Amino acid sequence: MDDCLFCRIAAGEIPSAMVLQTENVVAFRDIAPEAPTHVLVVSRAHHVDVSALAAASPTLLAEMIDVAQRVADSECGGQFRLIFNVGPKAGQSVPHVHAHVLGGAPMGRVLP
Ligand code: AMP
Ligand code: ZN
Repeated sequence: MDDCLFCRIAAGEIPSAMVLQTENVVAFRDIAPEAPTHVLVVSRAHHVDVSALAAASPTLLAEMIDVAQRVADSECGGQFRLIFNVGPKAGQSVPHVHAHVLGGAPMGRVLP
């Protein structure tokens, strides 16, 4: 996808603060962090959202979770919140699957 922001970051065409790269997944710092650790875990392959990815490639989704854990292990003691927004009404602004890894500070519950 030539015009996809996260495809271009994963390909190295747009600079980012990379923290971890594997054959299929990249992890880089969110440009507008909302926690001491705020890293985006992104598949190199283009999938619109986590539901599309889960349908197309459960193995790749599991690899993204593994990368998220490794980022948290190295940055914030292995504990983290993982967020996938699906659709603009849920706050998804970039239509390429990405997991937000948030950690490094105590977090309140999202749900009551
Ligand atoms: P979402 O709103 O769930 O789609 O998350 C997209 C995230 O991408 C937001 O938290 C943005 O701050 C982040 N973002 C947008 N552009 C960039 C960029 N060039 N480098 C790193 N993070 C970005
Ligand atoms: Zn893409």
